[in-house]
Amino acid sequence: MVNFQKINEYLTIAQSSVLRVNAVIIDCIDHICLVDTLLLPSDIKALKAFLKNLNKPLKYLINTHWHSDHSIGNKYLADSDTIIIAHQRYFYTHTDEKERIRSVYKGQENSKNSYLVDYNRIMQPHICIKNKFSFADGLTFSLIPTPGHSSDSICIYLHELKTLIAGDTLLGSPDGYYSLPYFYWGDEQDYIESLEALKGLDLTCIIPGHSNILTSEIFDHYLSYLHCLLDYKEKLSHLNYPLEKVKEIVNADQCVDFANGRKLWKPEIHNLNLEKVFI
Ligand SMILES: [Zn+2]
Repeated sequence: MVNFQKINEYLTIAQSSVLRVNAVIIDCIDHICLVDTLLLPSDIKALKAFLKNLNKPLKYLINTHWHSDHSIGNKYLADSDTIIIAHQRYFYTHTDEKERIRSVYKGQENSKNSYLVDYNRIMQPHICIKNKFSFADGLTFSLIPTPGHSSDSICIYLHELKTLIAGDTLLGSPDGYYSLPYFYWGDEQDYIESLEALKGLDLTCIIPGHSNILTSEIFDHYLSYLHCLLDYKEKLSHLNYPLEKVKEIVNADQCVDFANGRKLWKPEIHNLNLEKVFI
């Protein structure tokens, strides 16, 4: 099921009840730009119907990164004239068989959620950016490479609206919960640099890849968690502890001073981050 939330005259968030993943519809007056595609076929169908009702061409479809919950709907949602844009590493990731298998299965072999995406269903981008890429068409867009969650992650900054569409570089959380940065597929050091760069933007609205809209304090929260993990890495590196022991020592509470009574959303993310840092 998809909930469509119009947040101003330009922006509507389409949020799936599964994973609370967001796609963002940007109404540029005479055309539409869509950021990300949702995951489930029924949700993508609902998104397609919503776009059709707007009765404007879908001129741009931007993927914030290659993960299937943000890109698998390309083929179904794009019209013949739609320009699909992503980072160039999106293409490498999707076409490198080893990377693909490793990425999908690493650490999830025994999970009931483990599955292999049918990559024949992925439609490749028409424009692959490498560095920051800006253009104006109705609104002024800057696509900013933000490696960390994945090597191909990008965020979209809408200048007139002072809005950041962050993909999974920033995860939101439901009311009463907080989120952590998730870099199992990416790199923690890159993540820190990306967050430091995003912090400098003039922002009034931050739309994350999943769940609720965020405020700018998320940058310091994420940075303090990442620095804490790296400090532990340095402290424990010479001890060669098995991962289970590391998990006992470095629990999420010890790396988070911003919970304020809230619960951790998707606690498994912390354990996957530890696997990435300590293995
Ligand atoms: Zn996601």
